[in-house]
Amino acid sequence: MTRVASALSQAREQLTSHSESARLDAEILLANTLAQSRTWLFTRPEHELTHQQLGHFQKLIEQRQSGVPVAYLTGTRDFWNHSFQVTPQVLIPRPETEILVEHALQLIETHQFRTILELGTGSGAIAVSIADEKRDLTITATDISQQALNLAKANADMIGINNVRFIHSDWFVSLEHHHYDLIISNPPYIAQHDIHLNQGDIRFEPKQALSAGNDGLRDIRLIIDQSRNHLNTGGFVLLEHGYQQADAVRSLFSGYHYQAIETINDLQNHPRMSMAHYIQQTL
Ligand code: GLN
Repeated sequence: MTRVASALSQAREQLTSHSESARLDAEILLANTLAQSRTWLFTRPEHELTHQQLGHFQKLIEQRQSGVPVAYLTGTRDFWNHSFQVTPQVLIPRPETEILVEHALQLIETHQFRTILELGTGSGAIAVSIADEKRDLTITATDISQQALNLAKANADMIGINNVRFIHSDWFVSLEHHHYDLIISNPPYIAQHDIHLNQGDIRFEPKQALSAGNDGLRDIRLIIDQSRNHLNTGGFVLLEHGYQQADAVRSLFSGYHYQAIETINDLQNHPRMSMAHYIQQTL
């Protein structure tokens, strides 16, 4: 018979050379197998696993050993106030992206923004988190992937959010002449030949959500350029970017005549997102 405590310690050992978070991974995967919380595991070290549970757990550990991210194995990832469903068709929400949500909420509050657009919503983590905090606003969220949009809608439904409007769109293509007070995005920003794309957890994530041309700035450049046609005057753009891209993103903003350009650091103190506002030029 295998008990919780020994299943965990064996799994931790199996994962040590494959994951930097072997202990946590083992706990999350066992909790998922038993449909319990991690806290539950700590209070029941003597609990016996059934044969079937053990088999299932071992399969998950083997997949993790081969590199599959924990979030794709459990199908969920916590972000802001909720647990979001994730599949290999969408990027796994990152803790640093919560800072994007935090700053979007601050901007909405400070400027009393009413119309918000999120480009490339993926799992819907950003749009749904903002919509949950601001129930009186309607957020528009787009994605080029219909599979991602379906998942984002399922997440909104699961969390009980009905103030996000999902639109299938390649960036601004389907948005016609709509204007917004705030445009936010965590677009792909990794250079297409960056070796990190073939390493660790990231190699299992959709390339389309990660990489953007030779310098990684292809989509950021497009968003900064075209946002000018979709912002209400004085409206803001807030974008996540690579930690070495702050200078490039700031010069794109200033090159397109945005003002009040500001960069914000992430939890590791890396410059991770930038924002700026745009005042329509009157000729
Ligand atoms: N922050 C992610 C990473 O470097 C990339 C996310 C993105 O491209 N938007 O793993």
